[in-house]
Amino acid sequence: PAVARAQALAVPEHAIAIRHAREHNLKDLTLAIPRDRLTVITGVSGSGKSTLAFDILFNEGQRRYLESLNAYARQFVQPAARADVDAIFGIPPTVAIEQRTSRGGAKSTVATLTEIHHYLRLLYVKLGIQWCPDCDIPIEPMTRDTILDRLQRDRAGQRIALMAPMVVARKGLYKELAAWAAGKGWERLRVDGEPVPTADWPRLDRYREHSIDLPLGEVEIVPAQESRLRDLLDQALDLGKGQIRAVRVEQGRWLDESHYSTERACPGCGRAFPEPDPRLFSYNSRHGWCPACLGTGRVLAGFDAEQSGEEGQWLESAGASQPCPLCSGARLRPEALAVRFRGRSIAELSALTIDTAAERLADLDLDARESAIARDLIAEVRDRLVFLREVGLGYLTLDRGAPTLSGGEAQRIRLAAQLGSNLRGVCYILDEPTIGLHPRDNRLLLDTLARLEAKGNTLVVVEHDAETIRRAGHVIDLGPGAGTRGGAIIAEGTAEELIANPESITGRFLGRPNGRSRPPRPVDDKTPCLSLQGARRNNLQDLDVRLPLERLVCVTGVSGSGKSTLVREVLVGTLSNLLGAKRKAELVGCRGLAGWQRLTRILEVDQTPIGKTPRSCPATYVGFWDAIRRLFAATQESRIRGWGPARFSFNTAEGRCPACQGQGVQRLEMSFLPDVRMTCEICGGSRFDRETREVRYQGLDIGQVLDLEIERAAEVFAAHRGIRHPLALLQDVGLGYLTLGQPSPTLSGGEAQRIKLVTELAKARPNAEGTTDRPTLYVLDEPTVGLHMADVARLVEVLHRLVDAGHSVLVIEHNLDLIAEADWVLDMGPEGGDAGGRLVAQGTPEAIAASDALPTGLALKRHLG
Ligand code: ADP
Ligand code: ADP
Ligand code: ZN
Ligand code: ZN
Repeated sequence: PAVARAQALAVPEHAIAIRHAREHNLKDLTLAIPRDRLTVITGVSGSGKSTLAFDILFNEGQRRYLESLNAYARQFVQPAARADVDAIFGIPPTVAIEQRTSRGGAKSTVATLTEIHHYLRLLYVKLGIQWCPDCDIPIEPMTRDTILDRLQRDRAGQRIALMAPMVVARKGLYKELAAWAAGKGWERLRVDGEPVPTADWPRLDRYREHSIDLPLGEVEIVPAQESRLRDLLDQALDLGKGQIRAVRVEQGRWLDESHYSTERACPGCGRAFPEPDPRLFSYNSRHGWCPACLGTGRVLAGFDAEQSGEEGQWLESAGASQPCPLCSGARLRPEALAVRFRGRSIAELSALTIDTAAERLADLDLDARESAIARDLIAEVRDRLVFLREVGLGYLTLDRGAPTLSGGEAQRIRLAAQLGSNLRGVCYILDEPTIGLHPRDNRLLLDTLARLEAKGNTLVVVEHDAETIRRAGHVIDLGPGAGTRGGAIIAEGTAEELIANPESITGRFLGRPNGRSRPPRPVDDKTPCLSLQGARRNNLQDLDVRLPLERLVCVTGVSGSGKSTLVREVLVGTLSNLLGAKRKAELVGCRGLAGWQRLTRILEVDQTPIGKTPRSCPATYVGFWDAIRRLFAATQESRIRGWGPARFSFNTAEGRCPACQGQGVQRLEMSFLPDVRMTCEICGGSRFDRETREVRYQGLDIGQVLDLEIERAAEVFAAHRGIRHPLALLQDVGLGYLTLGQPSPTLSGGEAQRIKLVTELAKARPNAEGTTDRPTLYVLDEPTVGLHMADVARLVEVLHRLVDAGHSVLVIEHNLDLIAEADWVLDMGPEGGDAGGRLVAQGTPEAIAASDALPTGLALKRHLG
């Protein structure tokens, strides 16, 4: 393979050639990425991986694609700004497979994201049997003969008038009909259900529709008059466009009647149904959605029309919604739910897990007709189910809402969708596809990537996972550091070549023995702990768990085994009630919790963004910006001018740039296009006015300080403990490359999570007596996301420090380097979904590794060697 790679690189058609890339921190890179291969880009956070993969490769691929569109289509899409690169050759169309779930909209489900729902809809249109939702009997279209049968059965021996219903809006037409009926010898018509003499011109309301029944003749339902009945029936169905009324006649009076139709109608109640079309099964269409919940499946609890506005929003955000009473959460209108295939509605089929749905479809026995109609549809569904299982998602139900999926699950669903697309010659770009995956399922994912590769596609993956790096045909190791200290190619080649390269940090970590950096803290009967009893929620079945406190504890298990449910819903939910401001003694999803009195706080350090306003940035969020402003206010120049710390805030009017109000950018509103943000011309992006910038600290003005990378700022402010300490912590969690002023909304989920962690750490120090001020349980969900092996080692150190300071740390994690460092592991499983929800092992990582019958044990055993 090494020879093949060298050849591939030598031939321009077989490589994407990038010349002189300088975007962000890239150091004038010239490189080649082999086509039709899996390439991994790795390096510490901030080294420039995403810049290379997304800003250079993906942007350029997209831009070329947009240029190939016609001018009309182009005016609707925002042209990507050209990246700072001299030239790129040999770039195929690019597809980025992202982790965001926002794309599909709030009503998307696993089935709609993968198009499975689209094929199921067609299946139900073509092979579904329609039932009447009111009477629960099958609806079949009637023919003239079935109507004849029904009349002879229901009206045997009676004399009936057969009428053709018509709808007219104009008086003139009524006169014609009346004249026609009078000519036939009829004395009466029915107008809006009432008999009216044909000789009269009834007072028809000019602007309203009127229903007029035209009597075509009377007949007795006896065998002797059958041919007359057939005759009349034909005429009536013809004039009535498939509808007729049969009215009993006694002594010339019209009595009770029944309605027949050749449309699809319920034989019980006569209610007519339109022929099903795909929209009937769409909860995004008014033809399909449940009228009570408009297709969301949920309504607000206790919600009534008066409770709209803020209170309604509050109820919604407080999660106070409940399943819709009309559709029970199935999202579709009753008519849609009443269409069944093999006894199941489309909603019931979608409530199955991918695993079960795949089994049911495999067991289907189609007859010749069904097979001719649906073979291809079912094959499409089956393929997609297979792909979803291959990426380890078999435990998800098809109707699982997109907003409840994790980023990793959503990305793997997109990946599965691509497997089905049969595209070749495409360059797929992925960002950490192993997020949320148990090491056991990594292999499945890597096999999936290998298949896309085998189809003739190029894959470029930003990844830190050691196994993925080992499997890649080509690895690009960026570094050596972050930000301005990164952006160079340190090593290139296979994993072995990286290991052999003393310059490569990635190689060093790949080659080193795995294991813990310090002995575990003991866990025994005397260890304080939280005891959770009878947890029931999602797939947890009456689970009892003992969680050691003042320890580093990892919760492990394959995807879908119940880790988040246990930790984030039950434990965090219950502890937040007990320890929150209101001290509610309300349990969430469990029967009891003991031992919580040792804690004063629970803190979930999650990946949600840390603020939507661009005025928030690491310096203001972590909180050391005030100290920096005080330093500026204490300079001699400031004191002479009488300026206080407020002068150096970009949030108050005193010193900030008036043109951009301290934002550094100005927004231009463009019709039809998204707003364009441009660096402010007045302050040059520095956010402050000229006078304020005349004040300097160590040669830097306040705007320049905001622009400093954390690593560099740590040197500038080394003499000030209150500033140095949080900056050092930010470096410890691998964020040294961020600038102090980077707007919070531009931070990734992983970066946001680590900034929150630092904000906490900055406060969490043992007090003078060596005791812990506010013993806290820190809960983290995959904090290693986005971290290189070198960064993980530093993060582990930070977590150990928290525990050393008397706190408790609980981490949901798949990263074996972190798990190996734990004092205690709680392993959930054995599988995902219904086959999970139990605690299958607990103990030190070494003890877990001894039971290699379980997925986590096996992975740890291999990892620890
Ligand atoms: P990685 O993917 O390796 O973590 P990035 O490519 O995201 O690294 O970042 C590389 C460098 O480029 C960092 O110093 C980062 O702060 C900087 N950077 C990233 N995005 C932007 C941006 N939109 N504007 C300015 N600088 C950026
Ligand atoms: P893990 O964190 O181990 O990946 P989860 O706790 O997220 O597992 O999921 C456990 C089970 O509960 C899975 O079968 C999952 O599909 C189901 N589940 C999780 N969240 C929801 C939800 N909001 N609605 C329905 N089912 C859910
Ligand atoms: Zn509903
Ligand atoms: Zn400005």
